[in-house]
Order: sequence, then structure tokens, then C-alpha cells
Amino acid sequence: MTLSPDEIAERKMRFIYAIRSRGVLDARVLEAMERIDRGAFVRGIFAERAYDDVPLPIACGQTISQPSVVALMTQALDVGPRDKVLEIGTGSGYQAAILSLLARRVYTVERHRQLAQDARAVFERLNLANITCIRGDGSHGLPEQAPFDRIIVTAAAEDPPGPLLAQLRIDGIMVVPVGQTDHVQSLIRVTRGPDGYDYEELCPVRFVPLVDGVADG
Ligand code: SAH
Repeated sequence: MTLSPDEIAERKMRFIYAIRSRGVLDARVLEAMERIDRGAFVRGIFAERAYDDVPLPIACGQTISQPSVVALMTQALDVGPRDKVLEIGTGSGYQAAILSLLARRVYTVERHRQLAQDARAVFERLNLANITCIRGDGSHGLPEQAPFDRIIVTAAAEDPPGPLLAQLRIDGIMVVPVGQTDHVQSLIRVTRGPDGYDYEELCPVRFVPLVDGVADG
């Protein structure tokens, strides 16, 4: 099914409305969500649902997150234009693309080679030149580029991974879904102060698990 320009415009309007009604009112975040076309990150039969506020399947048995959750996490991360951001779990690349409009530099790590390759191709097509996508095990972070102003984890861990906490700059913020796999998890915002870390619970979420090691494909 090919959508007409009018249908696409209407779906995009509803898309932004759904995000606003979940409490995302930060103008920079809303603008980024308007500018990055989610349709570029979803393939095949799911493409026609790209502007619905639902998670959708992508390759390697993974999912592209629900747009309102992407928006909420981005707003909670409070990214500034000079920030260096680390994302763990590239998936489709959609979250990284949104962040790339708000930050100076985005590093994103994915354990599946296929997903990392596909995401790099989309970043190139959309001219998002400030994103570096690395295939690797993100539970160790990216020590060679640390420290980071902001860290976002888009897969659920039982606890915020220690190496990621260590790679957060003082005054930095990390957003991470925490909880047991296959259960409702909590989105946590960690702020690093001069003497330690503050933890704040934001809302219930549901993510695929953070898995140790790189995948075969
Ligand atoms: N942010 C993505 C959605 C992520 S789905 C988007 O915008 O589309 C979670 C992703 O985390 C999956 O692609 C999964 O393969 C990846 N992942 C899980 N454990 C990982 C790990 N240890 N290191 C890197 N990536 C991991």
C-alpha cells in the first residue's frame, strides 16, 4: 500500500499529537520527532504503521520502540547542543537519529552486525553525519570515548550497568529501563553528582533485554 501525501501528512499530525498527549512538551524534542521520518527505519509490511504510536518488529527479532516512549526518554535525557551522547542498543537507529539533532555527537552500540549495518546505511541516507554506530557489547560502554554527558540504554538491565555509571561525566544524566525481562520495567533517570548517583523512577516501560556479548549475525 502506498500512502498519498495527504494521508502521510495526516498520520504525521496524529503521530505528534500522540506524543504530546503522553506529556512530551519540550519544543526541541517535538521538533526532532517531526523532522526525523520514522518511516525510514521500518521495513516491509510494517512500514505503513510507521506513524502509529506502537513498537514494531525489526530484523534480528528486535523492535523499534514506541515513538511516545522514544520522546519521553529523549525529554528525560535533557540533551544539550554541546553534549556527547552514548546510546546502547541501536536497533533500527531511530532513537539515535532523534538524538543526533539535539546533541553534538552520538555514539551508538549494537550487538547485531546486521542491525548496525542497516542503521549506518539509514544515517548516511539521511545525512546524519554526527552519529557513529559501533557493533559491540554495549554493557561495557565505550571506554575509549568516555566520559559521556548523557547515556541512554534502550534495552532492559536488572540494574544500571556499572561500566556505564563509571563512564558518565559528573553532572551527567543516564536514562535506563531497569527490571526483569518479560516483566514491566521501570524507566530510571540517574544523575551523577560530585559525591555519588541520584536515582529517580520515571514510568513503567517494556523493552527487550540487554544481552551480554555480541550476536553471531
Ligand atoms: N533504540 C532502538 C530500539 C532498541 S531495541 C531503536 O530506536 O530502534 C534494543 C536493541 O538493543 C536491540 O537491537 C538489541 O540487539 C540491542 N542490545 C541488546 N543487548 C545489547 C548489548 N549488550 N549491546 C549492544 N546492543 C544490545
